[in-house]
Amino acid sequence: MNKMHRTLSLFNTLTRRVEPVVPVEEGKISLYTCGPTVYNFAHIGNLRTFLFQDLLKRTFRAGGYAVTHCMNITDVEDKIIRDSQAGLPAEATNEQRHGAMTALTERFTAIFLDDLETLRIQKAEFLPRATAYIGQMIHLIQDLEAKGLAYPREGSVYYRIAGLPQYGCLAHLDREGMQAGASVDADEYERDSVTDFVLWKAGKPGEPSWDSPWGPGRPGWHIECSAMGMELLGERVDIHSGGVDLIFPHHENEIAQSEGCLGHRWVNHWVHGEFLMVEGQKMAKSLGNFFTLRDLIEKGVDPIALRYAIQSNHYRKVLNFSFEGLRAAENSLKRIRAFRKRMEGEGQGGGGPWAEALVPLVRLEQARTEFWAAMADDLNTPEALAALFTLISDLNAQDDHVALTRDERNAVLAFLDEADAIFAAWPQEAASLDAEVEAFIEARRAAKAAKNWAEADRVRDQLKALGIVLEDRKDGSVGWRKG
Ligand SMILES: [Zn+2]
Repeated sequence: MNKMHRTLSLFNTLTRRVEPVVPVEEGKISLYTCGPTVYNFAHIGNLRTFLFQDLLKRTFRAGGYAVTHCMNITDVEDKIIRDSQAGLPAEATNEQRHGAMTALTERFTAIFLDDLETLRIQKAEFLPRATAYIGQMIHLIQDLEAKGLAYPREGSVYYRIAGLPQYGCLAHLDREGMQAGASVDADEYERDSVTDFVLWKAGKPGEPSWDSPWGPGRPGWHIECSAMGMELLGERVDIHSGGVDLIFPHHENEIAQSEGCLGHRWVNHWVHGEFLMVEGQKMAKSLGNFFTLRDLIEKGVDPIALRYAIQSNHYRKVLNFSFEGLRAAENSLKRIRAFRKRMEGEGQGGGGPWAEALVPLVRLEQARTEFWAAMADDLNTPEALAALFTLISDLNAQDDHVALTRDERNAVLAFLDEADAIFAAWPQEAASLDAEVEAFIEARRAAKAAKNWAEADRVRDQLKALGIVLEDRKDGSVGWRKG
């Protein structure tokens, strides 16, 4: 039986248009995303990118596709070497240098994977470490050399950008401005200095190195993704994604390396997520607005509210992260979870005729159509969620007057599950915890109103046992959080 897949469109940086994603193999999506450079904690700007990619992946899965995702772990790179080698004596052996580098990268890889789990980001099928693919990188560079697209110089190897007519296609570079013959050793550089870039870096004193046909050295950053991506996902990849800061030079150089070797298009869809500001400013340690996930959790932020706050904004718009935005996200989630709880229970509505009554299943199907039309149109989450909230308003009003039947309630719950497969923020458990806590809060309020202080304290202790901390607010309402 042929499984139905929805047609989903994404903005393609190559063509600067929203285009349907037509997979190389029907019903299957291969997805490569540039992973972290593991030398410190990921900040919320990095996490925004990983959350957007999780949304993308989950939307394709919910749309009926089998997604194979490869996210690399960059565990050899300039900053990693700088930070891991600092404490070593000048006479340290190559083995000791590798050991220090691995100790640093293993620590931060574990922390990174932990952060993904906290944010309910689905784990990639492939999580290759760059250092496990040095052999493939060397072969790829040799191949480019044989094709006249790479040349050695003093133990390093550079890519000859003049040799590839499509160089600049992704970042839409002006070929006139390119400085043919000049070369750059740094992995990161500005687009006004477009030059031959480094594929293999000659070893330097104080750095770990690998043997190669060009002498001891290490790979440049760009070659890592081409080698791992082609090895694990093959010669034709459906979607490759990263933050907008990776368009140039990183992704441009990945295209040069992979297509220079393959002789044909490597990736069909290049998809980039915008960056993040904090309270209207660029995030910077000096401004005190630089947050890791752990910083926010220490401040009492619910990671799932953070997930929702980020995903409810469109991925191609600059996101202004704020604590007010987080509170709004918490309130939106409360509303969805309360509605879910209501649908799980039985209706209390009067059952009499109501002039504004609607047909719940028709209304539901309309919302579902609107939700998917928005998600299929370049992951338009603000519109998709608007469709969900309008449905919640309409069905709450309906249920107040004419109770929905069990079958209707179950159909609504199935849609909530379908949407939660993408947003991962209102699963069944969360809704029931909410309801349990709200019931306790109500019991405590009633006890206090009856001046039954012993009972009010007893309820508070029961909540404490559940790990819930109550907060009496100035306005008389009671808030709660997981303590
Ligand atoms: Zn990459």
